[in-house]
Amino acid sequence: MKISVRDLTARYFSSNGPVHAVENVNFDLNEGESIGIAGESACGKSTLGLSIIRMLSGGKVEGKIILDDDSILDLSESEFNEKFRWKKISMIFQGAMNSLDPVFTIQDQFEEVLKQHKFKGNFEKTINDAIHSVSLDEVVLKKYPHELSGGMKQRVVIAMALLLKPKFVIADEPTTALDVLIQAQIINLLKKLKREGMSFMFITHDLAVLSEISDKIGIMYGGQLIEFGSSFEIYKNPKHPYTQGLLKSIPTLKGDAPSYIKGVPPSLLQPPTECRFIERCPLAMEKCKKLPPNFETKSGFVQCWLYEDEKLLQLSQENM
Ligand code: SF4
Repeated sequence: MKISVRDLTARYFSSNGPVHAVENVNFDLNEGESIGIAGESACGKSTLGLSIIRMLSGGKVEGKIILDDDSILDLSESEFNEKFRWKKISMIFQGAMNSLDPVFTIQDQFEEVLKQHKFKGNFEKTINDAIHSVSLDEVVLKKYPHELSGGMKQRVVIAMALLLKPKFVIADEPTTALDVLIQAQIINLLKKLKREGMSFMFITHDLAVLSEISDKIGIMYGGQLIEFGSSFEIYKNPKHPYTQGLLKSIPTLKGDAPSYIKGVPPSLLQPPTECRFIERCPLAMEKCKKLPPNFETKSGFVQCWLYEDEKLLQLSQENM
């Protein structure tokens, strides 16, 4: 499925005023490509995912989301539900393994999803296929959630998202709160599903995990997509000072001490009109008091004045 996101903006309404959770996000994904979205907590990653699957509650989404040839924000709720949700695009929610209902068996919960989406095919075969696709045995269908391990529950939740064979799955922190061995199992499972033709939007604060599964990576900061490009370019040649800081915060096998980015992200209640990273950026200059546009890079874009012209970039690097 081809995905184009244009000027996507999402706001929540709080008693203190609107929270500008996502602002002017733009990116394109080709058929079969997966994207990783990374950034600190509350940078807008999950809101972006929920906006794409039209499940943002208490907020308003504006802009364009084109899935193949359909502009999905222009569809009615029933049209979107009927044609897209769970059939072409689905979501593995954050902390989802805790959302399994403790008083129903796994089988009952799968059947409920099929009934909700008015599925007309063979329930038993569809459920068994989904369970097998995540390398589980049908025996788990008769169990209650408390009878399964954390890794098995997470696999069940992934199988539920795959039930109607969507082409694109938004996975919001699917490995958070799992121990490293189970994390590795889940990553291997997602890689296997990707090889079989599924595309993902993989949302996480863990850049190391993204390198395993993403063709493209988007870095979010203060509600904005501040860098976007191929995984290779983002890892090998990160451009935005925030992306560079994020990568330096990953511990290495060589034993170099990881560094961290001082300061805190801006409030999204009244986001600054200047570059949102200005307070924490070691390369900030006078010009950064104006919000930078997106400057084209080899495989995407970066939102930073340093890339307006080469001379400015060289000068800054010499002064670092
Ligand atoms: Fe730093 Fe300026 Fe680039 Fe913002 S625009 S990241 S403050 S150099």
